Amino acid sequence: MICDGDVPDSPLRIEVERRGLRRYTCSGGGRRTSRVRDMQERTWHDLPWAAHPVTVMYHQRRVRCRHCGIRTERIEFADPKARVTRRLQQLIGLDCQSMPTSHAAVRHAVSWGAARRAEVAFLRRWDRQRPKPRPRYIGLDEIQRGKGHQFWTVLSDIVHGEVIGLRQDRTEESTTTLLTQELTPPQRGRIRAVCTDMWTPYLNAVATVLKKADVVFDKFHVLQHASAALDDVRRQEFFRAGAVMRAVGRGKRWLLLRRWKTVRGSKRRELEELFAANRRLFKAYILREQLDRLWTYKTPQGVGNFLVSWLKALRWQRLPEMERLGAFLIRHLEGIAAYCFHPVRFGVVESLNTTIKAVIRRARGMRDEAILLLKLKWATAHPIRSVRDLKRFLQPYELHSNR
Ligand SMILES: [Zn+2]
Repeated sequence: MICDGDVPDSPLRIEVERRGLRRYTCSGGGRRTSRVRDMQERTWHDLPWAAHPVTVMYHQRRVRCRHCGIRTERIEFADPKARVTRRLQQLIGLDCQSMPTSHAAVRHAVSWGAARRAEVAFLRRWDRQRPKPRPRYIGLDEIQRGKGHQFWTVLSDIVHGEVIGLRQDRTEESTTTLLTQELTPPQRGRIRAVCTDMWTPYLNAVATVLKKADVVFDKFHVLQHASAALDDVRRQEFFRAGAVMRAVGRGKRWLLLRRWKTVRGSKRRELEELFAANRRLFKAYILREQLDRLWTYKTPQGVGNFLVSWLKALRWQRLPEMERLGAFLIRHLEGIAAYCFHPVRFGVVESLNTTIKAVIRRARGMRDEAILLLKLKWATAHPIRSVRDLKRFLQPYELHSNR
């Protein structure tokens, strides 16, 4: 070990030397050989010791392999061509999952590019080595990216709550390739239901690729359609009804779209005042609240009967927006009632979406789809839940073995 000067944070160099048998592993096929062609001094960044940055030095051999020709020797402590040791790579990769790459780079005194390469190598190794679950239920969902009308399609395992794949648009073609490329044939064979939105390209793709799977419409999306209808009623009632009424309805959109049970205190009074000013809006609000019950029935008949009585309550109300919603729900009744046979956990779908949006927001400007997908997989699978899990990722690598 060599230390430059007495400064508390002076760099340390560790020279690694091979002892014992002079046999080297070829980095091509992993065969051992003792025929060395030449060697070259190389350095790797390693974990710091106290405040001292540490550099590992080693004379890496080039060997003459009978099968591969001239190749560099394989070393235990670092990936081929990497500038950092494997244990530092793991630490950087791990840090990058909870802080921006630029912060992790500063923290470990490497360049941004080196930190990013370390992160990618770390995530790839993790993804390669973990088992591939075969979920019964998968989710197909669009995620809005940025403020424009740019949508990404996310394929996820909604049994274990993990992201499986990602595409940069939401066309039928790319959804079809997403389903065929990201899922192996045994995985596809196991899928019994796909939880998705009422988006025709998705439905077509599912019908082509997963012929045996049912479609379950996501509760969140169904209620979103209901909220849109309710908002149409609000606009109809207040904004085309003269200046006085307009003032009453102004700025109430978000309040109106909230569910009754989540509204408290003064906001609840505000909502009641709004309903007192317009009974039709009140009626529409109640009708939307009732739709929650669509997912409480045990049989499709129950769902159907409920929807028929819901439509009956609409009669004479002169609420064309809600009537349109009713017709829409009737058209998609099969996919809504499919929940009776496939009780997918909508809560998992929603929390997945929240995590995905948070990762995308943090990784804004990230152009590389492959890295973003790896980050999403890591964030949703959250593989570190205990000290033991953490140890798996921070396993010490020997600097060099004597075999
Ligand atoms: Zn070889």
